[in-house]
Amino acid sequence: MSLSKKSKKFYIIFIILIIVVIVFIIFKNKNTDSYPMDTVASVVKTDTKIVDKVAENTNTTKSIASYKIDKYFNVVPTDPNGNKKVVLLTIDDGPSNQSENLMAILAKHNVKAIFFINGMHDKDYKGVIKKEFDAGHAIGSHTWSHQNLNKIKESVALKEIDSNSKLIKEITGSNPIFFRSPFGVSSTFSREYLKKQNMISMNWSGSTKDWEKSARDQKVFINNVIKDLHPGTTILMHEHQWDTDNLDALLTEIEK
Ligand SMILES: [Zn+2]
Repeated sequence: MSLSKKSKKFYIIFIILIIVVIVFIIFKNKNTDSYPMDTVASVVKTDTKIVDKVAENTNTTKSIASYKIDKYFNVVPTDPNGNKKVVLLTIDDGPSNQSENLMAILAKHNVKAIFFINGMHDKDYKGVIKKEFDAGHAIGSHTWSHQNLNKIKESVALKEIDSNSKLIKEITGSNPIFFRSPFGVSSTFSREYLKKQNMISMNWSGSTKDWEKSARDQKVFINNVIKDLHPGTTILMHEHQWDTDNLDALLTEIEK
């Protein structure tokens, strides 16, 4: 049974609501308008179709705020006077032996994230995706086995996407809303197929650059994020040991 348009919209609103504004981090002493959009664009790598899904969120205690993900993969309030002091944290390539450690650090900071998972890891880390979901994090799809969608046949790409959605639905009860292409590389087929599935293709607008060896150093890891940080940054990180080692300090720095 497919969800009605209204309930689908509500679901998207609800999910982003939970992620975004609970993830919100206040830039206490900054003028948040001091980052022009072209600065934002310069740090974006994207070949995916522009998404502009509207979503709402609440900080759970006060007002309801409405957010959308703009074409630069930043989270922005739909109300021009809305709170721009938010970031979106996304963690790719799990589940892994780091997932639970990462979750503990997120809990310490009262931060929710999107975990973009690869279904192939589920057999090695049974129950971890469910724990992430139960802790209030969103489960996004990163395909089943992390292949470059631009280098595989359409039939294989279809399977990569569908198998992962099926697993996520089994665990969470719903199809994933968020999708991130492995290596940030999509194809015409994947873009069109994801659109038909009502999934949101996500890239990022800020990054720990944790794939670079230099980012294992905490100062570099943090600076990679902070130097490009702007209101609404969608931050990319993975489940490496050094992400776990540096996440607590990174969140503390962003909170400042
Ligand atoms: Zn990945």
